[in-house]
Amino acid sequence: MTANSSSSYEAQASVKDRLRPYVWTLRNGLRTIRFLFGRFPRECSVCGYKGRFFAYGNPLSLGINIDSLCPRCLSHERHRLLALFDKERDLFSGRSILHFAPEKGLANYVRSKKPSRYVTCEYGGRDADLDINIENIKLNDGEFDMIVCCHILEHVDDSLAIPELYRILRKGGQLIAMTPVIEGWQDTFEDRSKQRTTEDRILYFNQHDHLRFFGSDLRERLRQANFEVEEYTAVEPEVSKYGLIRGEKVFLCRKP
Ligand SMILES: [Zn+2]
Repeated sequence: MTANSSSSYEAQASVKDRLRPYVWTLRNGLRTIRFLFGRFPRECSVCGYKGRFFAYGNPLSLGINIDSLCPRCLSHERHRLLALFDKERDLFSGRSILHFAPEKGLANYVRSKKPSRYVTCEYGGRDADLDINIENIKLNDGEFDMIVCCHILEHVDDSLAIPELYRILRKGGQLIAMTPVIEGWQDTFEDRSKQRTTEDRILYFNQHDHLRFFGSDLRERLRQANFEVEEYTAVEPEVSKYGLIRGEKVFLCRKP
């Protein structure tokens, strides 16, 4: 729109027209407050809770999800999606598992499935069994049957991390990779010049510590490390029942 057409719009717009976006935004903001502690009753596939979920939004990111957080086990949509997948595939029982940045509810869920060995890890954290830098893992080749890696790859150099994850899996072992993916983008967006400041990272990557938004080429990045990639997503009625994000994926990556 040119400067001229913009000012002509301003001249023609009534006071009501100009106030409308303010009214809509305030009204929707008040509705959001009303539903902070739940809109619909849901069910948690992680802990079995039935009832209202709380809204969740990272204060350092943009947006808030209504009916996101299980008030009993603190699961989010992605954890409930993974637990649903596990109910189909029995991913954890009897297997040796390494869990990166373990979320409490999901960690308890995995333990309840009686893995043969369950090791948690975090980079620089104190609440896990091991302190591991995913880009340079100080573990032997082929140590684990299964790796759980939820919302990690968007924070790190995935070109280093994915081959390391492949290396520490035994032959036939599997990586569970979950990360935000923009399916409409062929190519991952990770412009380094947009990663320098907190404000830029929030603006371009939606969170202060994100380094990229993966596009649909995430699959190719996983395959380049020799993984065989399988995908799981939930459909209705499970999506509404368990409060999931439509189209969210679990990538199950097998080391052949
Ligand atoms: Zn729960």
